[in-house]
Amino acid sequence: MSIDFRYLIPEDIFNELTELAQKGHEQDDRIVQGWLFADRKNNFAIVNGYDVTKDPAKCHIRPKSWMKLKKHKLYQMRKLKEEKNIDIVYQFHTHPDGKEELHKIDLKILEYLTTGVKVVVTPKNVIGWYYDKRETKKPIIDKMVFEIINK
Ligand SMILES: [Zn+2]
Repeated sequence: MSIDFRYLIPEDIFNELTELAQKGHEQDDRIVQGWLFADRKNNFAIVNGYDVTKDPAKCHIRPKSWMKLKKHKLYQMRKLKEEKNIDIVYQFHTHPDGKEELHKIDLKILEYLTTGVKVVVTPKNVIGWYYDKRETKKPIIDKMVFEIINK
């Protein structure tokens, strides 16, 4: 992934997402999961919407079937891209406890997928983690910083 690539998020979407994590924090660290949509323009990815699909979500519990999880994720992403005519679809979930780092289950899922992005929403921030282990022994893990923009 190029260093020049930038991730932009409109302020209202940033506020809504972080609010989801804030609310979850007040309710026993309830996790919410969904999709984040973005348009690609040259070297920019610009978030243009999101969709909450699981509330509450059990993101940090070992999946019963890794294969089903992978199939489901890839199927949903392709479907969303086609139906909504969107360039980029990322899976996101909240970390109401405020931890920006990936949970050990988050990392295990990325390891299983061999490549992908997980977007983590804390009560204060939106962070992405790009993971790629397809061509290197040691995985490439890049932190994606979302810059807030005013539309
Ligand atoms: Zn997590």
